[in-house]
Amino acid sequence: MKVLDLRCSHGHGFEGWFASNEAFESQLADGLVECPVCADTRIVKLLSAPRLNLGNAKAPAEAAASPAPAASSARVPVESSPEARWMRAVREVLAKTEDVGDRFADEARKMHYGETEERGIRGQATREQTEALLDEGIPVMPLPIPAALKETLQ
Ligand SMILES: [Zn+2]
Repeated sequence: MKVLDLRCSHGHGFEGWFASNEAFESQLADGLVECPVCADTRIVKLLSAPRLNLGNAKAPAEAAASPAPAASSARVPVESSPEARWMRAVREVLAKTEDVGDRFADEARKMHYGETEERGIRGQATREQTEALLDEGIPVMPLPIPAALKETLQ
């Protein structure tokens, strides 16, 4: 995904997201890239350093220079905020673990001592239970679950 800083012949600066430079060039040649402000298709690409996608984080200067287009065919939404990545990571853990609820401490202990099959589990443990598990050398990890996910789990 290429994020390009573009400018129309009237001086409106805006951002366009394209699969590649070639995609941009071909859409530009076909007159498909237009200014979100005035629909001008005489667009030039500004030089800009490559950067990471940081969601909505924008430098103040850039935010001021780029009017937010309400709808532009050049833009595609990308889910890349830190919250979105966290949600994905947590979902992955949830998908790979068995929910043993408040039997967590018992199950973790049984697994550790070979009384039951090793597997990924999740559940609730009190602070005391967690400390006891750690004292016994049983690995326990906190799993902060985003509020939005918690609701869908119950
Ligand atoms: Zn314009």
